[in-house]
Amino acid sequence: SNREICGDVEFMGVYFEYPDTDRPILQDLSFRVKAGETIAILGATGSGKSTLFQLIPRLYGTTDGNILIDGHDIRSYKQESLRKQIGFVPQEALLFTGTVKENIAWGKQDASLEEIIKAAKAAQIHQTIMKLPKQYEAVLGQKGVNLSGGQKQRLSIARALVRNPKILMLDDSTSALDLKTEAILLKSLKEYKCTTLVITQKISTAAEADSILLLEDGRLLTEGSHDSLLKN
Ligand code: ATP
Repeated sequence: SNREICGDVEFMGVYFEYPDTDRPILQDLSFRVKAGETIAILGATGSGKSTLFQLIPRLYGTTDGNILIDGHDIRSYKQESLRKQIGFVPQEALLFTGTVKENIAWGKQDASLEEIIKAAKAAQIHQTIMKLPKQYEAVLGQKGVNLSGGQKQRLSIARALVRNPKILMLDDSTSALDLKTEAILLKSLKEYKCTTLVITQKISTAAEADSILLLEDGRLLTEGSHDSLLKN
């Protein structure tokens, strides 16, 4: 259906294998993120973090188990409607030759300048943009302005936010930010009230989250808040 989502995400005993491999990538994975909360996902390279993200907008179906959004199986949503309401920021920002404004509005061509600026502010990139010649009209790319890795990451977070996602997934997309900027960014995302899933290598990012999932070889090693994990 085209139902509007609120953003509660629950994995129930999820198993997953890629179609062309015969080894399980995710095994018996269960957890829940309540609408509006932030969950950090940690784990070594290859532990299945990015795979987990791909299952939520149904880029792949689960091998076994269920994923629920607002208590409804994700298979009961129209894929298009699901993808429209989920924002995904990849590890590598994919910017194109065009203005800053066009790059932010990429997934929402009819975004107003006001919406674009609001997203840029929340993503902590507005001040950088205001310092560029031509600001939001500055052209990015080889012959235009070249942004740093961290600036590109923030621009691509702004791009996801401008669509007002109900669920926001950040795949290590704050890796190039300094700790202070990252903490401010994660706090300012709260204004969008979206459920946020962040894959991260950094314990400082995880500390900003409401809860933390630690994956090892596709299994949930532990789950809890930063404080409770430190105590154990
Ligand atoms: P990283 O931190 O390096 O991004 P990750 O925890 O996100 O790693 P995944 O990218 O989810 O891990 O990969 C988990 C496992 O699935 C790895 O062993 C990887 O080789 C395998 N894998 C990932 N994508 C595919 C694919 N499209 N087809 C087959 N196997 C894949």
